[in-house]
Amino acid sequence: MQNDRKLIIAIDGYASSGKSTLAKALADVLGYVFIDTGAMYRGVAYFVYINGLYTDDSIHFEKLIKRLDEVHLTFGEPIEGNDRPLLLNGVNINEPIRNSEISALVSLVAVIPEVRTKLVDLQRQMGTHGGIVMDGRDIGTVVFPQADLKIFVTADLDIRAHRRFIEMQKNLPDITFEAVKANLASRDEIDTTRSIGPLKQAEDAVLFDTGLLTRETQLEKALTLVHQLLAQ
Ligand code: C5P
Repeated sequence: MQNDRKLIIAIDGYASSGKSTLAKALADVLGYVFIDTGAMYRGVAYFVYINGLYTDDSIHFEKLIKRLDEVHLTFGEPIEGNDRPLLLNGVNINEPIRNSEISALVSLVAVIPEVRTKLVDLQRQMGTHGGIVMDGRDIGTVVFPQADLKIFVTADLDIRAHRRFIEMQKNLPDITFEAVKANLASRDEIDTTRSIGPLKQAEDAVLFDTGLLTRETQLEKALTLVHQLLAQ
């Protein structure tokens, strides 16, 4: 029997593993809110970048921590479906946060404890009432350890790099496959080895290998899990 419960669904996984695609599709079908927490970390990295808080290959941690109160991240009105642009202090930064400079910087910003505390708090506020699909690295382990459903998404590095390369080539024709692959490998390394909120599969998460499953099958499998929960 169906019920009106509004679930919290956590989707974690490696860079470019297809988490957001699955999360968005699932949120669309369920009429839930989709929250891309990677965009939020990218938003802080963008703040660092435009304010000159990253020079000579290092982040000015103390200056950033002092200025963290100036970082107001929100999601704007949906562009299409569930895809809502990230706003930094009211300005749409959805495009620049995807560029290579920010991709190179984001994992270094995401290890800073003060940044994680701020964003985890914000993510918890966004999800308190349920009816959300949130994707990231630590959603099922740290942000919502009590999530109703946890999915952990992975795929072979070459498959992920190929997907990301095709996507990035549209805006950056000079980008190379090797550069994209190196960025993903480096982010995975930093994300899995940091001491706070490292990327790891929660014990109660269901594993999806998106290299082996079509998008349709992933969505079907996820919906089956949701319906099983709602039938309880
Ligand atoms: O999801 P996306 O690849 O855009 O995330 C960019 C980066 O943000 C990740 O590589 C990771 O360093 C950081 N991140 C994080 N925790 C999350 C989501 C993203 O540390 N929940």
